[in-house]
Amino acid sequence: MDERIESTFSYIDSHREDTVKYLQKLVRIDTQVPPGLNYDKICELMESKFSEYGCSVSLHEATEDYLKSSGADFLRLEGARCNIVARYGGLVKHPALHISAHIDTAAIQKEGWTVDPLGGLHTKDNKYGRSIYDKGGGYVWGRGSCDDKGSITAMTYALEALHETGVKLKGSLILTGNCDEEIGGIAGLGFLFKEGIVKADYGIQLDGSINSIGLAAQGRARFLIRTRGKSYHGQMPILGVNAIEKMSKINVALTDYWKNVLLKRQIPVPGIELPKELRSIGIDKLTAMLNIGTIKGGVQGATVPDLCEEEVLRGMVPGESFEEVRRELVSVIEDVKASDPGIRYDVDLINAREGYVVSYDDPYIQKAKRIVGEVLGREVPFTGSLASTDMNYQVNEGKMPCFSIGVGEPFSNVHKPDESVSVDAIAQGAKIIASMIIHILS
Ligand SMILES: [Zn+2]
Repeated sequence: MDERIESTFSYIDSHREDTVKYLQKLVRIDTQVPPGLNYDKICELMESKFSEYGCSVSLHEATEDYLKSSGADFLRLEGARCNIVARYGGLVKHPALHISAHIDTAAIQKEGWTVDPLGGLHTKDNKYGRSIYDKGGGYVWGRGSCDDKGSITAMTYALEALHETGVKLKGSLILTGNCDEEIGGIAGLGFLFKEGIVKADYGIQLDGSINSIGLAAQGRARFLIRTRGKSYHGQMPILGVNAIEKMSKINVALTDYWKNVLLKRQIPVPGIELPKELRSIGIDKLTAMLNIGTIKGGVQGATVPDLCEEEVLRGMVPGESFEEVRRELVSVIEDVKASDPGIRYDVDLINAREGYVVSYDDPYIQKAKRIVGEVLGREVPFTGSLASTDMNYQVNEGKMPCFSIGVGEPFSNVHKPDESVSVDAIAQGAKIIASMIIHILS
């Protein structure tokens, strides 16, 4: 093994205690979104760490326009949309490698937690399973401990190891902590790319599982559908127009549409595996989907509701545009209206994010597969997901080859109560990152 890699690896192995302390600090800052408060606080913590390594660090707050297209009003977003960019200069500018992790977390459920979701508890064992990398480092608990603050920790200690062991880079390294990933990343990595703040030649998106190399994800558009009726006394519904009944007709049509039309819209992704759960029911291609996610309406049984509102998420396959998807959704509702002209409705886009597919035979991707395999000591598959990450901005806006990998394992309960992460998986993640940096930038 390369001497520099060996010394960074042993630095990482001997600093696991520090990684626990740093991760605990990150978890204790509540950055669940919505609302997405405290991004400024977590950026400050990361800034002081990156500055210690001699990075030039800058904070970038997304403007009102970006907040608007994030669906800020509907999602009730609050607080500054802060993002952090740390640059670790090499002798020359290129190649530039951009590594991204998100600073926000999924929302914290009120029920189901057996540990404090913002406590950062450190235990030796884990009742939900054991990491295959477990060497006694234990587990850290809390919302975001794995997704994605465990990744932030891995990225931070990878850089610390390179810095402390004196590895010299030839190209430049850009690390970002970007906000709002869980709601589409528009004011986060989207903002950093669209404003030209981040530009690079290669990318890594730190998110998801440590046991796979993510290359593809579907796009998605979130719509708000409203039906309007006429309020009346509930014992004389014949004199009112029931907005919930109108929405029910629309929902029957939407259900038929996704099961009979969208599920047949499939795009093959050669060389890339979809998750086991999907393959086991025969879905091995990117497949269009639709989910009726929420429904709200009415005030009481004795009143005819005059408004019904619901959120629909449309999973998009490559080749579908937001405009087409919206037009098709409206035409499904128009067909319902043709048989019930009394339906009054409107459709608004809450927010949208594009999908991506990276070619598995790209030389950078092949190199990454070899490096990840060497570090983990096992063959790691290329995977695709129906759920997206911030990687769409690196691929579509940044036009760079990129892959995603995180520190998650089957027991990690990502987005669920009792989220946790293995400290040894974080160390493995840090080694993957350090090894990638050394191979690409020196
Ligand atoms: Zn994530």
